[in-house]
Amino acid sequence: MTFQQVYGYEPSVRYSAPGRVNLIGEHTDYNDGYVLPFAIDRRTVASIGQRDDRLLRVASAFEPDAVHELSLDELDPSRMSGWSAYVFGIAWALREQAGADLSGKSGFDVFIESDVPVGAGLSSSAAIECGVALAFTDLWDLGLSRKQLARVGQYSENHAVGAPTGIMDQSASLLGEQDAVVFLDCRTLDTAVVDLALESNDLEVLVIDTRVEHAHATGGYKARRDSCERGAAAMGVEALRDVSVDDLPRAQELLDDETFRRVRHIVTEDQRVLDTVRTLREQGPRAIGSLLVASHESMRDDFEISVPELDLAVETAMAHGAVGARMTGGGFGGAAIALVDQEARGTITDAVTAAFAASGYREPNVFTVHAAQGARRD
Ligand code: ADP
Ligand code: MG
Repeated sequence: MTFQQVYGYEPSVRYSAPGRVNLIGEHTDYNDGYVLPFAIDRRTVASIGQRDDRLLRVASAFEPDAVHELSLDELDPSRMSGWSAYVFGIAWALREQAGADLSGKSGFDVFIESDVPVGAGLSSSAAIECGVALAFTDLWDLGLSRKQLARVGQYSENHAVGAPTGIMDQSASLLGEQDAVVFLDCRTLDTAVVDLALESNDLEVLVIDTRVEHAHATGGYKARRDSCERGAAAMGVEALRDVSVDDLPRAQELLDDETFRRVRHIVTEDQRVLDTVRTLREQGPRAIGSLLVASHESMRDDFEISVPELDLAVETAMAHGAVGARMTGGGFGGAAIALVDQEARGTITDAVTAAFAASGYREPNVFTVHAAQGARRD
C-alpha cells in the first residue's frame, strides 16, 4: 500500500525517524541517571500531503484499508485510540506541551511505513512519534528544537497514548548520528554525541530478539520503580542518581536485601554508563566489552529482569567470541545485543540459533544494526 493508493494523490514530503537500541544504562532513566542509546538503521517513514482544511488523516501500512481522521479543532486524548494516537497525540502535544498555536494551521494527510520491528524493544513508538513531530514542526513552521521535540514525543506517549515511558527513546531517535551514541543525562536532559566508531574497528552490533513477550513485564516494571523509590527515600536522596558506588555499604545497612540489590543495580549501572562513555572516548569500542557483560550480570542477579532466553543469548554470544553482550530494554523478554567482530557475525548467529533450538526455545530473530542518523526530512 502507498500514500497514492490511500489518498489518490502523491505526497509532497517525506520525513523519517529511526528506532533505537540502548547500548548501556537500563532502568536508570526514571532514577534521574544516565543512558547511552543509539539510533538504528531501521526507520519509520511518514509521507505527507498538505490539506487546505483543518483535518488530520492518518493511515499506516500496519493496518491496511483504515484511514483515521481527527480535526485540529478536536485534538484531545479522549478522542484518540489505537495506533493513530501516536500521530494525533503529537499534534496535541505540540499545542499542550510546547505551547504551539495551531489555530490558523491546516491539516495533513499522513501515511506511515516502517521497517522497525514493533514490540521488539527497538522503539517503533519513538520512530513514529519523532518522524511526525519533526514533520509537523517544519511544515507548521513552529521553530522547535530537537530537544523540545523529544519532550513533545514523550508527553504524547505518556498522556495521549498512556504509556509511562522516559525520554530516552525520543532523544535517540531525534539526536542520533551515524556511528555514534547519544549520552543522555535524564535529570538535566543534557546530551552529548559520542563516537562509537564500530565501522573503523571492524565491529558491529547484533540484535538477538528472543521473541519472548512476558505478561508480567508491566507489573515487574512497576515493582522495580517502587523499589527504587523506596531505596531513594531510605537513603534520603531525591533519586538514586544521587547515590554513588561509595555509598553502597551504607545502603546495605539501611535496606532490606532485595531493595539493596535493586539499588545496587541502578548505582553501578549509572557508573557503568559513565565508564563506557570515558572508555569509548579514550580507548574505543573494543574496550567496553566487560562493561556490557557486567551490566547484564547486574540485571540478571541484582535487578532480576532477565529471562533464561536472554541469559542464553548473552552466554552463547560470549562463548563464541563476542566482545561484549547484554540484554537491552526493560527486560522480562525482548532482545539482547552483542558487540561482535564483523567476521564473527555468522558464527555467533548460528551458535545462538542452535543453542535456542537445543533448549527448546522459539527461534530467535538475529540481525545487525548500525548506528544511524536521527530524524530527518528525506
Ligand atoms: P516498541 O516501541 O518497543 O516497538 P511500543 O508498544 O512502545 O513498542 O509501540 C508499539 C506501538 O506503536 C504499536 O502497537 C503501534 O500502536 C505503534 N506503531 C509503531 N509503528 C507503527 C506503524 N508503522 N504504524 C502504525 N503504528 C505503529
Ligand atoms: Mg515504545
